[in-house]
Amino acid sequence: MECATVCKLCSPILSSPRSAVVGKRKQQLSNHTKFKFCYSKFKIQALHSAQTHLSSEVAAEKSQSSTDFAIGELVWPSPSDEIPFWKKDFPSWGVNPEVPVDIKKDSDPMHIIHITAEMAPIAKVGGLGDVVTGLARACLSRGHTVDIMLPFYECIQKQQIKDLELVTTYNSYHDGNWIQTNAYHGVVSGISVILIEPSNQFFKGQTVYGGSFNELEVYLFFSRASLEWMQVTGAQPDIIHVHEWQTGALPLLYWDMYHNLSLKKPRLVLTIHNMEHYGECTKEQLSKSGLDGLIYATIEKAVDDRTIGHNPERLSLLKGGIVYSNAVVTVSPTYLKETLCTGWLASTLIRNRDKYFGILNGIDTAMWNPATDIFLPAKFNAQNPEGKKLCKYYVQRGLGLASEGIPDGKHVLDMTHKVPLVVCITRLVPQKGLHLISHAIKRAEELGAQMVILGKTSDGRVEREFEGLAKLHNQGPSIRILLMFSEELSHLLYAAADIVLVPSMYEPCGLAQMIGMRYGAVCTIK
Ligand code: ADP
Repeated sequence: MECATVCKLCSPILSSPRSAVVGKRKQQLSNHTKFKFCYSKFKIQALHSAQTHLSSEVAAEKSQSSTDFAIGELVWPSPSDEIPFWKKDFPSWGVNPEVPVDIKKDSDPMHIIHITAEMAPIAKVGGLGDVVTGLARACLSRGHTVDIMLPFYECIQKQQIKDLELVTTYNSYHDGNWIQTNAYHGVVSGISVILIEPSNQFFKGQTVYGGSFNELEVYLFFSRASLEWMQVTGAQPDIIHVHEWQTGALPLLYWDMYHNLSLKKPRLVLTIHNMEHYGECTKEQLSKSGLDGLIYATIEKAVDDRTIGHNPERLSLLKGGIVYSNAVVTVSPTYLKETLCTGWLASTLIRNRDKYFGILNGIDTAMWNPATDIFLPAKFNAQNPEGKKLCKYYVQRGLGLASEGIPDGKHVLDMTHKVPLVVCITRLVPQKGLHLISHAIKRAEELGAQMVILGKTSDGRVEREFEGLAKLHNQGPSIRILLMFSEELSHLLYAAADIVLVPSMYEPCGLAQMIGMRYGAVCTIK
């Protein structure tokens, strides 16, 4: 598990002397985490220093940070507002932080195309979306040409994308048919994005995952359609960077199909963000992509080792991706060690050890910056932390966790500020320590703290459990449980938090604690 500041779940931090907490905060706010990632002649290496644009960013923060807020001018939110306070002003896609330009450029500029199921903020479910966008922006700022290819999910709203236009209509193969497919181009958070939209029912639905189609098959289609688009348009990137099991079949399709056609130049990088999902599929399912599934059912290729001797044996797209990529990266050096020692993929990773790298994730410090964050009613930074107090009170007011007395300068602010506010922003899945979250709710109440949970689940049982907790607590004075995804509210909550709770059972890297520290909160990790 990777983190700098750790204290035990529900430890006496709730009653820590305030001065100690504030001291830690100042240190954390200036503790920028940078992407340390560099593609070099198809070799990945960690960069050892995080020099990049820190100095200019700090200068920009100083000039932009407005801590001379006029309390009287703020319109204080209330739980009875018709429009919830986090939806009022700026939708997340309205934010378009500039890609920093004054960064030292790499000497070997490349063309990199990411192929991914998620991208923040337009198609974000968890950290995968954040990392893809942040990594693309970091590479762009260092002089590389970067595109992101993404399914055009029905839930992505067109106004979320700048300069959106249809650029190519072509056919891509799936299960014996050539499906007419549109490729759109646009710009999101400063990055060029290509959105793949098949004319069938794939990617329809109101959420990124969990539509009424076979998830495995749609991502097999997407993997092939992305390569087909490069073939049709003549794109020859240096690097095709795929992510997770969803695009694990792409390296197979590349080497055994498209490389024999016109795609010669690209080399393949796979990033594994979380080894929880292996992309299990049958030979028949893989054959729907146009490959012969039977060929891959060997230990050296893509057979799921756990199913050897079963009838039928199954394949793993993630394993296939590991075997067929030129380089495989995971999201921290510690997770690399863990995955070499445990789990059924360990033997595959050991066999491929010479091309397997652990590179610590970071957050995009321009997109997550309390000194400039447009979702916040007051900005703050390590030098001027006062705005954080206001953000906390703003959130407390909006969620009905503070009295509605007018904060005429000091009194009410000081009163509510004394109550520690614990925040937990997470996908509600077992990995994230669901039982510890429910336990923490009780402990927070007992210790006189406040706690806000912002969580989303697609599991009906978990949904019902947390709905039950919400019913029990949401009318009371200290706990709020909000079962939804909201990028806007997540920014406000990090800014308001004294403590960010990350009770994960395991965490390949984890961004929530990095964001929490960036926004001046203490992070508690199991
Ligand atoms: P994981 O990748 O396992 O989901 P991380 O901690 O690496 O976990 O990243 C989670 C990211 O998703 C963070 O940016 C977090 O703020 C965001 N997030 C998780 N759940 C929600 C939610 N319900 N609403 C808004 N943002 C969320």
